[in-house]
Formats: sequence, C-alpha cells, structure tokens
Amino acid sequence: MLKVKLNSQAPEAIETAALVTWAFQGPPAPPNTAGGGEDAERMGDESPALPPEELRLESGLAALDHRSGGRLAELSAAGELTGKAGEALLLHQPPGFKAKRLLLLGAGKPEKFSLHDIRNLTGTAARYLKGRGVSEFTFWFRPLQAGMSAGDAAEAAVEGAALANFDPDRYQTDKKNRKAIESLQLAGLVSDAEQGIRRGLIIAEAQNLTRELVNEPGNRLTPRIFAERAAEAARQAGLSVDILDENRMRELKMGALLSVAQGSAEPPRMVVLTYTPPGWSEASKPVLGFVGKGITFDSGGISIKPGEGMEKMKYDMAGGAAMVGALRAVAELKPGVKVIGVVPLSENLPGSKAQKPGDVQIAMSGKSIEVINTDAEGRLVLADALAYARQLGATHLIDAATLTGAIVVALGGVHAGAFANNQPFLDAFQASARAAGEKFWPMPLDDDYHDNITSDIADIRNTGKGRGGGAINAAMFLKEFVGDTPWIHLDIAGTAWLEEGRPWMAKGPTGICVRTLVHFAEHFGG
Ligand SMILES: [Zn+2]
Repeated sequence: MLKVKLNSQAPEAIETAALVTWAFQGPPAPPNTAGGGEDAERMGDESPALPPEELRLESGLAALDHRSGGRLAELSAAGELTGKAGEALLLHQPPGFKAKRLLLLGAGKPEKFSLHDIRNLTGTAARYLKGRGVSEFTFWFRPLQAGMSAGDAAEAAVEGAALANFDPDRYQTDKKNRKAIESLQLAGLVSDAEQGIRRGLIIAEAQNLTRELVNEPGNRLTPRIFAERAAEAARQAGLSVDILDENRMRELKMGALLSVAQGSAEPPRMVVLTYTPPGWSEASKPVLGFVGKGITFDSGGISIKPGEGMEKMKYDMAGGAAMVGALRAVAELKPGVKVIGVVPLSENLPGSKAQKPGDVQIAMSGKSIEVINTDAEGRLVLADALAYARQLGATHLIDAATLTGAIVVALGGVHAGAFANNQPFLDAFQASARAAGEKFWPMPLDDDYHDNITSDIADIRNTGKGRGGGAINAAMFLKEFVGDTPWIHLDIAGTAWLEEGRPWMAKGPTGICVRTLVHFAEHFGG
C-alpha cells in the first residue's frame, strides 16, 4: 500500500526524488483597473498583449522560477513549457532545489481547475515517474483555488497516485517491469489534510480492489471464488457477510437468477454484505441497497456472442465488484446510514441444460419472463437481486451493471447511463458523482417505453422489440422489479473498462462507481 505523509518544509528544501507541481496555461488575467474603458484599451494597438500560450508564472511558480535562476521563464519562452493539459516537463538537478528532479505538469486553464484535475495530476506524475524507475515523489500544492479545502485536495491527490499505481499485470511472470510508487509526500498543505489522506487511501484501495476483481479471468474468478474473495475483503473490514448458494436460491424461488446459472457446471452464488452504523435500530431509515451485476463470464448462452472480443466478457461482473469495493470503503469510513450490498453471481454459458430462447421463467417477485435472448441475462439476475434487496429492508436502491451494448452506442466511454424512477434521488446521486469526479448521463424511463417489453405469453420479455433503445428497454425491465422503491440504475458497459490507457490510469478495469457510491453513502440522508 502507498505510504503518504505531509511535509511542511519549503519546496526548495525538500529532499525527494522528484518535486512535482502544476503549471497553468494562458496569460495572467488583465488587472481589473477602474473605469469602463478597459476593454477598449485592451483592444487598442498599444496594449502589450502577451503571447497566448505564455506560461502563468503566478504565485509559487514565479518564486520557483526565480529560485531556479529564470529557467522556467526560459523554457516558457522556448515553447517547451506552456501549461497545456497533458504536458509533462522533467528537469534534472533543478538549480536551487534539493530535489533530484522537478516535474511540471500542464494543468490547462486555471478557471477550470478542479479536484478532479488534482487527482489526474498526481496520477500522471505517478505513472510518469514509476515508468522511469522512480518510487517516491513529493507533490507540491501551491495556493488552492477558492472553495477547495486542504482535506479534499489531499484526498484527491492520494486517490490519483494510488489509482495510478494499479497495473493489470498480475499474471505476468517477469517481475522486473513491475514498478510502483511506494511513498508520496504532500507539501504546501496545512495539517488538517491528514483526514483527507486517510480517506483518499481507503477509497482508492477500494477502487483498486474492484479493479483487481474485474481484471480476473473467468477461470480464476468463478461465482464461488468471487464470493470467497468478497467475503474475505468484507470480513477484514468488519462487514457482516451472507452467501446464498443454489439451494437457498431455490427456497427463495429466484427463478430468474437460476435460469441463467443452469447452463453452467459452476453453481451460482449471491453475496450479501451489510454495513450497520453504530446506534442503528430497526426503525432507522433510510437503508441503502447497492446491487451489482456479477456475471463472471458472459458467453451470451445459447444466443451466443461472436468470438471477436469475447474474452473481455470476464468484465461482466464489474457492477458487482464495484459494490464490494464500495461496501469495504463504507465499512472503514463508517457513515450514519445502513448499506446492504447484494451481488448476484453466475456464469452465462450454453451448457446442455442452458435455457433457450422462448423459455418462460418465474422471478422471485412472481413475475413471468419470456426469455427472447439468453444474452440479456444481466437483467434476469438483477431482477431477483433487486427483489431480494427490498426483502432485506432496502428503502432506496442503486444498481450498477455492464448491461447493454446500446449504452456504449449512446454514450461511448465517457459517461455511464443513469436511469431513475425518482428525480430527487437521482439529483442527490449526481451531486455525489460530481464531487467524486465520475460521469453519469441521465437517460429516459417513461412509461411510453413499456410497450417494448410486453410479451404475448408472459408478463414481460427480456429484450425489446426492434433495434432501438436497447439500454432503455433493459432499464424498463429492471423497473418491473423495484416497485415504488426509489431506484437508480447505472449502465456501466462503456465505462467499466478503459480500452486505451490514460496518462493517469492503466488500460483495463476502471473501478467506476466506487467513489460516487461511497460519497453518496456518506452524504445521503433519505
Ligand atoms: Zn449477456
């Protein structure tokens, strides 16, 4: 685990392998002189316009430039240091500093600078430096933007570095490429940043646990193994754990979940993790239900998928893994709300007992489902998991699932889709998403879409009619199983896996939802 501490020394006095800070883009804002003639004056010929790309040598950076004998101004004039987002400039043995290296990262326009940028900057620094064999660095915060607290900034910085440390290389036997940032110092922050450091480590480690699970191949993370690993992580954190096997599922009449599992020799499981806050009583409300799809491998079943890219279908438990990560962080941060995590786990394979298109299944809620396409299995396992979460006492539900290719068509890899039957609940969730730096786009869920999932022989069918609105049809299906419980469905099929690495994050599993869910549990009052 990453070691983090605060350092109160002046930046030039810090002995470190690399001193890292940011540089903004663009000229300094014009002085706000009195009178209304300023604009006209600036447009006139005599205004000494700065080159548009010139580095802002403001606040601490100007002092840094001075200390380095004008080196930064030189680099700026040469166009090597512009402050553009994504830029990285490494100086060895910077004059006037005890640090071995100075790494300046472009941060774009200062008006847009946010906590999310801090997270990405430390992440970029961590990946940049560990790739060069550096295992320790100091991130120097210059004065923060108005409204940014030292605690939040520290939390974001620690998250960024810890998330950047993750690489999906567990099964590579050549260990010499396995490098990591082992320790991080934060300089320029006041001491109340300690709490932010603790939170950042808890949340990033939870998100990395999720990514570790998502990265596991199907043969090494069957429903039973997932359940064991989730139980182990949960017990360490002090959560109560219940694992349902196929016999208990039969007793509970979870016909939708069992119909998916019947095509595989591997039995299904359902993991239930419960966080109960101190002083909780049966009358305490609300109770959050976090439900995540856990298909440990999805071949599509009898409606089998094309071979190309099928290996990625090991990621079809990313929603479930997010709930495990979120619950573990919740257990450590101890918010005042009870949270129940429910993860239905199954493989979806075309074995000789596999369900067939046209089969009718009876869900735990009693609703009958005509299975049109066996590859629309996520909604089947979620139907019973949502019903079970309600039975366990959840008053508010959030599910996350790599549910549809249609959401990838609609939103690409940037936003996940968010569907809800309750606008204030979604608004509260979106506020947490913004704070956590994750993106969810609101999608429609009107009754007008219901015609798409009606069946001639059962209550509903598991896919829509025609090609349009696939992500919405899936959400409409889930809506049948939540009754009037406030509920949000997150379709993360396009955002759970990064196809191309980013400067601050390895390609592969992202661990989306963990940060937002944790923030939400900490702030939701019902
Ligand atoms: Zn599927």
